[in-house]
Amino acid sequence: MDAIAAAQVLSEIGYLLRQNPKEVYRARAFSAAAWELALQRPDLDELHKNNKLTSIEGVGEGIAKVLAGLVETGQSTYLDRLRAESGQPARDDESTIDLAAYQGDLHSHTDWSDGRATMLDMARAARALGYRYLGVTDHSPRIKVVNGLDAERLLAQSREREQVEKQVDGIALLQGIEVDILEDGSLDLPDAVLELLDIVVASPHVKLRQDPAAMTERMLRAVSNPNVDVIGHPTGRRPGSREGATYDFELVFREAASHGVSLEIDCDPARMDLSPEHARLALECGCTFALDGDAHAPAEFAYVPMAAWMARRAGIPMDRILNFKPLEDLTMIAK
Ligand SMILES: [Zn+2]
Ligand SMILES: [Zn+2]
Repeated sequence: MDAIAAAQVLSEIGYLLRQNPKEVYRARAFSAAAWELALQRPDLDELHKNNKLTSIEGVGEGIAKVLAGLVETGQSTYLDRLRAESGQPARDDESTIDLAAYQGDLHSHTDWSDGRATMLDMARAARALGYRYLGVTDHSPRIKVVNGLDAERLLAQSREREQVEKQVDGIALLQGIEVDILEDGSLDLPDAVLELLDIVVASPHVKLRQDPAAMTERMLRAVSNPNVDVIGHPTGRRPGSREGATYDFELVFREAASHGVSLEIDCDPARMDLSPEHARLALECGCTFALDGDAHAPAEFAYVPMAAWMARRAGIPMDRILNFKPLEDLTMIAK
């Protein structure tokens, strides 16, 4: 049993458990174990043979039982049961996602805002994973608590980016921003600044409980801005703790598709946003996607392998996901 495949099963179990407030601790345990598997990639067959699955950090008896079932049968009856109990359709049209073809992540943070590592450390970690590019997308000024970047600090950051690129061979650092979508749908930095950047991830962070009509207008305005490349965690939800924004999803997704704006599937286990259900709707609306870790530290790059099941479950083919494209095919960079 491949550790990454097992990580995806544990991650989905954690996700389904999160829907039940009573299971929040167990949900976190499954997500943490999934993260550990995606990071360490232990030899599960060997550990199971020697009865040592519980030697994996964060794996107790319950999770070990699920892993043992996976090693023996390739299936998880626990996951099957949770899917059935939570009304998940069987979905015989899941897609195939080959993570070996993952070219790079478009949404990450450094200690320029609320990341916990330097740009150099993030670039080295991404390169060690085989990434060919990394979007450095720190926060915009509105999010004061995280030291968001204004035009002046972006310029300073771009100088550091040049230096770091020289120090780490084989990876392109895309100068970007995770810009806040303000209440009226305008963005937290002027267009004249945004148009200079390689990648603009526009995300809703605050006032997510706006009434749906106002939220729809807000999101429509954001996807219509020609500088926006990706809508980050499009609902702002935190499964198990915060409901995301509600808006006319179909209308906004269709508008995003018509403007060539991609929707993010944010793999952070606290977010999982878009959900597989919303991603499926977006797929039908003709959207493209970014499958991102939203990593705030090198270890969080492991979020993508642990949560790639979301894209698979949504039936999204790899050619609709930006991260499987080589750098030269990322059209937003060329513009
Ligand atoms: Zn964000
Ligand atoms: Zn972010």
